[in-house]
Amino acid sequence: MTATLSPTPPVLDRILLQALAHTVNGVVITDASRPGNPIVHVNEGFTRLTGYGAAEVLGRNCNFLQGPERHQAEVDQMRQAIAAGEPITVVIRNFRKDGTPFWNQVELSPVREAPGEPVTHYFALQTDVTLKRQAERANVLRALELERIFRGGPVGMILLDEEGCASVATPALWRLMNLAPQAIEKLDSNAVAATIGAAVARAQGLPPAPLPWPQGCQSVRWEVQREGQPCALDVSSFELGSLTRERVIVVRDVTQEEVEQAARSQFLATAAHELRTPMGSICGFTELLLMRNYSADQAKPLLETILRQSMRLSAMLNDLLDLSQMDVMGGHAFTLSAVNLNEALRKALQVAVPPGSPRTIDLRLVDAGLRVWAHPQKLEQVLINLLSNALKYSPQGGTVMLEATIEEETRRAHILVSDQGIGLSPEHQARLFTRFFRADPSGPIPGTGLGLVIVKELVERMGGTIGVRSALGQGSTFTVSLPLCESTS
Ligand code: ADP
Repeated sequence: MTATLSPTPPVLDRILLQALAHTVNGVVITDASRPGNPIVHVNEGFTRLTGYGAAEVLGRNCNFLQGPERHQAEVDQMRQAIAAGEPITVVIRNFRKDGTPFWNQVELSPVREAPGEPVTHYFALQTDVTLKRQAERANVLRALELERIFRGGPVGMILLDEEGCASVATPALWRLMNLAPQAIEKLDSNAVAATIGAAVARAQGLPPAPLPWPQGCQSVRWEVQREGQPCALDVSSFELGSLTRERVIVVRDVTQEEVEQAARSQFLATAAHELRTPMGSICGFTELLLMRNYSADQAKPLLETILRQSMRLSAMLNDLLDLSQMDVMGGHAFTLSAVNLNEALRKALQVAVPPGSPRTIDLRLVDAGLRVWAHPQKLEQVLINLLSNALKYSPQGGTVMLEATIEEETRRAHILVSDQGIGLSPEHQARLFTRFFRADPSGPIPGTGLGLVIVKELVERMGGTIGVRSALGQGSTFTVSLPLCESTS
């Protein structure tokens, strides 16, 4: 007798019944021949999935699982499949016995005694796909977010596929170059460079020339015109990962960065030059004193020069430190507090004109209790700087005044520092707040040309403004305006 691997029909039936009973999925069998298609069998998987025991559901139509959500499109699709006697798989929102919703993937199959015979039963295999659905939804949302960043960001990007051909370009790419989108999809990098180069040249009325293309991790620079202004773009590329040969070309506007870099280099060069001048005379005069046997009277003016230049050097270093501190802060504003205006004025005046000083300052105060939004120490530094300039640049004397006024309409306080000194020409006023500018650098009045730059930075970081009115030979008035603090506490 030959052995067979196939179980005999009664054994197979038992195996099938066991498999149905113990599968992790929910199994529901309904009787299609009875009105309302009632449930005639559920397995343990169904109880685990829905929380309902067999005794609670036998004889009922499956639709109670839909809870309050009877109008789902997938339910209609199931009804149509049942009417047509066809199998169907849908994902519908069902509710467990405890009321919690879940996404149920229902695979519904009609059961017939034999092909072509009427449907006697329906067999439904149910799977909880809630987690899968949530993950899918999270993926879709993430993809949409990334798409928004890719399309809406300020950086121009071109995605090159495995063959090195452009597949997508971001709108920012064309915005950066002020060009209408060009057709670059499916072009290789040489053709992309030629197409963009031609469009850029056309926009500038120049003969077409391909733009340089980044090789490896080296970036290249494109120069384009935007709204009539030259604009520098940094073009670099990176690989999307070691498992793919896809690359992304990144195009960034670096015009402002380059301007700032040039200003920093220029500032460093000027600072070094300015520091070298007093350093040179300190070294020169010291050498002279060491080499020659000067009498005390002869040495005195040389030593005075050394002292003056050392003080200038030290003032300049202090100013440079102040400026570098502000550079480190970046564009951040100071933390402001309510500062009593009259007190701030009095304090600054005391430092600018110490007791016993030959010069005096006219002080005009506002109502006691008025306060401005400011940083107390920085405001003091601003006022001391302006007052010492007013005294310094009125060597013939004359009234120096420190006055506060309130502008009701704008709710701002104006602090005026005025003198009747040497004044400034309109050309010099225009250059007043630039680093190292001195209206009369060779004149005898000491200074660094950095004080007003610092003052302006400080005032602006307190949310204020500074202005100047001046006439050559007649004096100057510097006005610092700050917002008034309205609260009384
Ligand atoms: P400095 O250390 O040279 O005084 P500032 O930045 O404070 O540097 O001022 C820059 C230049 O502005 C000064 O060198 C001077 O020429 C001019 N200046 C500043 N304040 C006055 C003023 N009150 N009257 C006339 N000129 C002034």
